[in-house]
This record gives sequence, structure tokens and C-alpha cells, in this order.
Amino acid sequence: MSAITIARGDGIGPEIMQVTLDVLAAAGAQLDISEVEMGEAVYQQGEPTGISEAAWELLANSPVLLKGPTSTPQGGGFTSVSLQLRKQLGLYASVRPCVSYFPYVHTRYAAMDVVIIRENEEDIYGGVEYRQTTDVVQSIKWVSRPACEKIIRYAFEYARRHGRRKVSAFTKDRIMEFTDGFFREIFLEIAQDYPELVYEHQSLDIGTARLTSHPDKFDVIVIPNLYGDILSDLVAQITTGSVGLTGSANVGDGCVMFEAIHGSAPNIAGEDIANPSGLILAGVMMLVHLQQIEVAEKLKNAWLTTLEEGLHTADIFREGLSFQKLGTREFGQAVIERLGRKPRHLSPVYLSKQPTPTAFAYRRPDIERELMGVDVFLDWTQGSPEMLAKRLPTLEPTETGEAWTLEMISNLGVVVW
Ligand code: NAD
Repeated sequence: MSAITIARGDGIGPEIMQVTLDVLAAAGAQLDISEVEMGEAVYQQGEPTGISEAAWELLANSPVLLKGPTSTPQGGGFTSVSLQLRKQLGLYASVRPCVSYFPYVHTRYAAMDVVIIRENEEDIYGGVEYRQTTDVVQSIKWVSRPACEKIIRYAFEYARRHGRRKVSAFTKDRIMEFTDGFFREIFLEIAQDYPELVYEHQSLDIGTARLTSHPDKFDVIVIPNLYGDILSDLVAQITTGSVGLTGSANVGDGCVMFEAIHGSAPNIAGEDIANPSGLILAGVMMLVHLQQIEVAEKLKNAWLTTLEEGLHTADIFREGLSFQKLGTREFGQAVIERLGRKPRHLSPVYLSKQPTPTAFAYRRPDIERELMGVDVFLDWTQGSPEMLAKRLPTLEPTETGEAWTLEMISNLGVVVW
């Protein structure tokens, strides 16, 4: 028995969670389930995180969470439940397999089979922003060595254990030499520890263009937070034509959260038409994590067989391609009826027989440090940069008696003096 915690969520959450729990049980998953409440009901009790104290206590001792989608109220300072969980539980990697089910699900990207591993904690997601001057505001982008090492090592370990052959990193290192350049440098460094895997770094723009023109050239992609946020939604949508077909894992040192990639879809809630596949596939990823591999394979194969037989929910149903349109519960029942069968054409995905390590030792490198100077932001409206430069030599010397020397004046990254 493996202990897990579930949260049913909002909107279509309870419907797709029930179907997911039913197919997991029918496949023979050995799960000891505790349930917590997250989302709308908790927000309404006045808790701005949408997560109750009781839920946090339970999560502290439960390393696996299967979460239904939750709604975030607009305005009023409410924060998304998933974002809170990622931050508080240190879920540093978002793992999203984006797979085409061509020709059974319509797609223009028949060859897409990539896993996008997105850094989850850093970049500009700290939400720390400043007003530099009256006219200029700034957002801070953080990139740290421990976080880069962890996400990049996780990506290579994932590739190694899931029979993948190549790891690609996308950044804008030519524009952001310090932050993205740091990510690229650490990527190239860590790649040396995995000689059996091919690796490459590409510029985000070129890499994204190549991914959409030649998806077969990509395998595992490791990517900083913001770029990964956009790329993973985009690729999941163009690959399958519906957000309802993709599951994801949010991985931390001590806890892993599994969820569908979509939201609570309030526009179709209660209609029994939502596609439960994203959460079912998140459940399959959870079974692999819990090392219930045979059950995971059995469920994945039954799900592939259902798709292959054209039994589709409304979001992917197409006249001439699909055989029958099913509701949420009917789809779950169809999967259960196919347990024990294997797809005839879609290839069953290789499921790792070894867990991917999630915690890695970190040793701070010995680097000599030297004070190079200080940056000062001025709201200067009283004249030209030359006039400003002339005023500065009147500054008091430093504590050690050294005179300040003005090296440069820049405005929005452009050197003006
Ligand atoms: P959404 O993903 O809920 O819906 C976008 C579109 O996709 C809608 O047309 C919806 O009907 C459709 N859709 C989504 N899931 C589907 C499924 N399983 N089957 C069929 N169709 C499906 O995105 P949204 O409308 O922008 O957000 C709705 C709410 O969900 C918001 O409150 C948002 O904050 C929240 N949200 C939560 C999560 C999460 O819990 N991880 C993620 C994204 C959004």
C-alpha cells in the first residue's frame, strides 16, 4: 500500500477525480488515500491561499499528492493553490510529457513525443518588482546555482531512467548573459556526467521554431521557468488539440504533486463531458513514482486502447475519425473494460522501472570574490548625462579613503555616458 493525499478541486475537478480514482482502483493500484480540501471552499472561509491548516499538516507527512484543478478567484489578493504548493513544498521541477496520439487524435504534429522539464521556483516568479524611477519599473529575475544544478541534474536523470536519448536546453543566453548564460553554463557542465546522452543548448527562439518544424529531433527539454510556462502549454495544446489529454508531475526533494495541466473549466463543470485523461495520465505518472509499475502499464495500455478504438470525449471527438462520443464517466468505464488489453498500433510508452532521484547533494564552488563597484539608480530629470557625470566627483570618499570613480551611466541598458 502506498499512502497518497488527494484534493478533488473545483469545477470539473470532482468529476475527473472520481473517474481517475475508479480506474486506478480497477487497475489494482494499492493506495491508502487521505483527502484534503483545497480551492474555492477554502478561499470562501477567508484563507487567501486556498489551502487549509489541516491540509498543510497532512501534506507535511504525505510525500505524494494527486490534485484536481482548483479555481483562483479574480482580484482580492488570492493566490493560485498550485503556485502555493510549488513554493511551500519546494516542487522545483514541472514534468510534462507532450505526446501525439496520431492518427487516433487529430494533430499536425504526428511526431511529437517530448518531455518538457520546467524549472518551477526561480526566474521572475518571485514576483519582486521595484519602481526604479517615476517612469521605469523593474522585475527581478533570479537564477541560482543550486536551483540550476537541481533541475538540470533531474532532467538528465529522468532521461537516463526513461530510456530517452537526448536532453536539450533552451535559453536567451545571448541577451541575458548573466542569468540565462549561467543556466547554459551549468547545463553544459552537468551534461559531462551523462556521456551516454546527447545534449545541446539552443537559443529559445530557434529551438522553439525547430521544435515545431522537426519535433522528432527533440526528446527531453529542460528550460527556465517563464519560457517553460509558455512552451509547455503551447506544445501540449498543439500536439493533442486539447488541454485535456496531458498529465504532469511537480517534483520536489520531499514531495511530488501530480495533476492535469488544465484548469477547473467552470464552463463545462457538472455536465459530465470533461475529458478525465489528463488526471488519469497524472495518476499513471504517480504509479510509476510509487513503483507500482505493472499497474501503471496496465492502466496506460487500457487508456491507449480506448483512444485507439475511437472512444473519445467531446474535446477530441471528430466525425470520421472518432467512433463514439463518450461522457466523462462513460470514458472511465471504457478504460476499465479494456484493462488487460494492449493497444494494437499506438506503442505503449516505456515506463521507467527505476525511480528518478529527486534530491541531489550541493557543494558551493570556491570562487574568489572582489568588490567591483555599486549600481545607483537615479531619478534624474535635471539635465544631460554629461551634467550628471560632472556632479559626481563631489561625492565623499569611501570609508577606506578611496575616491568614487564614475565608470558608466546607462539608461534602460543603453550606455549614455
Ligand atoms: P481551463 O484549463 O480551465 O479551461 C480552458 C478551456 O479548456 C475551456 O474551454 C475548458 O472548457 C477546456 N478544458 C479544460 N479542461 C478540460 C477537460 N479536461 N476536458 C475538456 N475541456 C477542457 O482554463 P481557464 O478557463 O483559464 O481557467 C479556469 C480556472 O482554472 C481559473 O480559475 C484558473 O485560475 C484555474 N486554473 C487552475 C489550474 C490548476 O489547478 N492547476 C491550472 C490552470 C487554471
